[in-house]
Amino acid sequence: MIITEEAQLRILCEKVSSVEEGENIGAQLLKELTESENGIGLAANQVGINKRVCVVNVKEPLVLINPRIVERSEDQFMFAEGCLSFPGKHVRTGRHTSVTVEADNHEGQLSFSADSEDINDAFECACVQHEIDHLDGITMFDRAMIAQPHQAPEKIGRNERVTITDGKETKELKWKKAQPLVESGDWEMAPA
Ligand SMILES: [Zn+2]
Repeated sequence: MIITEEAQLRILCEKVSSVEEGENIGAQLLKELTESENGIGLAANQVGINKRVCVVNVKEPLVLINPRIVERSEDQFMFAEGCLSFPGKHVRTGRHTSVTVEADNHEGQLSFSADSEDINDAFECACVQHEIDHLDGITMFDRAMIAQPHQAPEKIGRNERVTITDGKETKELKWKKAQPLVESGDWEMAPA
């Protein structure tokens, strides 16, 4: 059963004490993932086990026991993500273009990079970051890319004097007189 309660997803997971314990949880997660619809990753707290184990299955099934990101690129890429705990929801996130991960069940380091011709590399790279975030109680919504708000146009007072031009002539007049001319499209605000 995949948990969808926000409170459960906010729990900070604890390290497992042995690789064996981690492998048991990993096997359970992979089974759950296989039974899910379109799932590519799962973290232990999504099934109610508050331990630092997660799985990713994009190119091959990968179990990560007590994983930690030891290096992350400064640059990010934008990715449209979903999550088994938030069925039907999607969010555009910003993820590091590359990360280096260490885990207790892998010797050496694992590198993931979205900077590749193969789209699966981007999926895997985003997924690893998404799952490790889960173990820290972070969801994809916390990584949402926020669009820059457009700057609100300055409001012009009715009696404020403005300069308008029709390309040949320029006039200086009060905004209440200038506004209909500008709105007609024949005149525009002269560059300051
Ligand atoms: Zn998720």
